[in-house]
Amino acid sequence: MMTSIENQNEKFNEVYSALDNLSKSWKIDPIIRDIHLGRRHDLQDFTIKINQVTFHIPYLSEISKYMIWDCLWPECHNCCNRQGRLPLTTSDISEISENLGYIHRSEFLRNETYVATWENYSADEEAGIPLITTLSMINLKRKPTETETENGKPLPCRFLDDAGACTLHPSKPGVCYLYPFYSWSENYKNRISIHASFQLTGDCPGYLLTDSVDDMMHGLEKYSKIIYDYTMKMNSTIRQGFARVDFSN
Ligand code: SF4
Ligand code: SF4
Repeated sequence: MMTSIENQNEKFNEVYSALDNLSKSWKIDPIIRDIHLGRRHDLQDFTIKINQVTFHIPYLSEISKYMIWDCLWPECHNCCNRQGRLPLTTSDISEISENLGYIHRSEFLRNETYVATWENYSADEEAGIPLITTLSMINLKRKPTETETENGKPLPCRFLDDAGACTLHPSKPGVCYLYPFYSWSENYKNRISIHASFQLTGDCPGYLLTDSVDDMMHGLEKYSKIIYDYTMKMNSTIRQGFARVDFSN
C-alpha cells in the first residue's frame, strides 16, 4: 500500500501528464496550470452558497483573480475521452439499465458493471491532518472488458460517439452531470450541508481567470441543483448499502 506522500507524488505526475496532453489541443494559461499542480502559494478558498450548496472557488490573492469554469462542448469532449471512473448511484442503476434495454437489473449489473474500491486523499485543513476516504461502489464499465484494475485510469468511454455526444444521454451517470465538480456532504449537529469544488485532474480546458465570481453565477445556479440532487442520491445509495464510504487518517 502506498504512503500518503507516494500517493501525492503519483497524483502530481498524473495531473502533470494530463496537462501536457491537454496542451497539445488547447492553450492552457500558465497560472491555471500552476493551480492544478498546487504551485500557487497565494491560493485561497473563496466560498459562496448558492441555493443549498456551498461552492469552494479558487481565489488568487496576489493577482485578485478567481478561477471559474465554462464548458467548451461540443468543441471539447476530453472528459469523456479520458474518463476516470463511472460510479453509479441506485438511481443511475435503474435509469441506465432501462436505457440499455435490460429487463432485469441483475443482468445489467452482471454484464455492464463491476465493484471497485479506491482511496481518495485529501486533508482536514482545520486540524491539519491528512484524510483518506475509501469508497466501494458499483461502476459502469467504460469499455466492455473493463475490470477493477483499470478503475481510476483514464479511458475513452464506450458511450461517446464520433460526433462527441453521449449515447446514454439523458440517462447517463450522475457523475457525468456533476463534472468538473465533485461534491461532499458534512453533518454538523444533525444538519447536513453540501459542498462542491472543482476536480483538478488536468483534463478540462474550460477553466479561466476572472475578476468576479459573478461571471459564473448562471453556471453556479444551474450546478447547485445538479450537485444537490446528485449528493442526495449518493447519500441514499450509501444508506441502501449499494456504496460504502470509510474515513481514516
Ligand atoms: S473536458 Fe471540460 S470543457 Fe471539455 S467537455 Fe468536459 S467539462 Fe466541458
Ligand atoms: S457516459 Fe456519456 S457523458 Fe459519461 S463519460 Fe461516457 S460518454 Fe461521457
